[in-house]
Amino acid sequence: MGKGIVLADPRGFCAGVDRAIQTVETILKAAKNSADERPQGLPPVYVRRQIVHNRHVVGDLAAQGAVFVEELDEIPDEAVAAGIPVVFSAHGVSPAVQHEAARRGMHVVDATCPLVSKVHREVLRYVKDGYEIVYIGHRGHDEAVGVVGESPKHVHLIEHADDVSALDFPPESKLVYLSQTTLSIDETRAVIEALKNRFPWIIEPPSSDICYATQNRQTAVKSVAEKSDCVVVVGSANSSNSVRLMEVAEQALAGRGRAWRVDDASELDPAWFEHASSVGVTSGASVPEALVSGVVTALKTMGYEDVSYVTTTKEKMHFVLPAELRRAR
Ligand code: SF4
Repeated sequence: MGKGIVLADPRGFCAGVDRAIQTVETILKAAKNSADERPQGLPPVYVRRQIVHNRHVVGDLAAQGAVFVEELDEIPDEAVAAGIPVVFSAHGVSPAVQHEAARRGMHVVDATCPLVSKVHREVLRYVKDGYEIVYIGHRGHDEAVGVVGESPKHVHLIEHADDVSALDFPPESKLVYLSQTTLSIDETRAVIEALKNRFPWIIEPPSSDICYATQNRQTAVKSVAEKSDCVVVVGSANSSNSVRLMEVAEQALAGRGRAWRVDDASELDPAWFEHASSVGVTSGASVPEALVSGVVTALKTMGYEDVSYVTTTKEKMHFVLPAELRRAR
């Protein structure tokens, strides 16, 4: 049998990422048509933080004129007065950021993924009902910072099963767990088990917070890894779901080979594939398909000419653009 590539399906863009990128692109397009009306020296749009965690996507939008800032205080008053839009990224923001934008009178376009907004709403509802919330997530990740910021006193962030022992709630407390949307399903299961052992009265959210795209990509990469000798995951190092895909793939390879994460084809190392006749390939939810094609082309030059697919489900999810952009189109 010849050397081959096994491509995961689904992979790449999810509905939330697609919507966030289209949000910025739609603003850029509209700004192009009204460039004469904009005060000189001001950009068409600001974006707070990376719109999605992929450096190629961010670089591409920056090349089209979008200006990325870490914090709102980097945006000058002159731009606020001129009504230059400020886009919040797909990962969401805390109320403190929303209040700051409102205080300064900013024209905010919120590209928070609706599935992240759902977790924010859950936090507010449970806090209102008197619950303490154990939030399983990654400390410092934009999504976790935003969710915890909804109620820092009542949302208790943990990352691993080992962290459960440090929690302490009296038996009469109302307790619920929620989670970040891009976690490893298997790892989260272990954390939930530890939580249930220590706090048997803890309740679950009405439906899993781990989103459909994360679940589908993990299921697909598992099947791919079972048919491969190593796996390449295309995605940036700060992309939570891409890093999780690498971990899931490595586990499914069960010692037969390694899983590698690359931003693009230029990071592939031929030494990784010395003993592999079959290379699995997938990509995180924030990764443009062109980067996957680049990896496939590079692997073909290394002799991996047969391309096959493992399709575990067909996705149909679509999120409409923020309301004001729908009107503008
Ligand atoms: S990975 Fe899930 S939660 Fe994150 S943007 Fe995509 S659909 Fe939304």
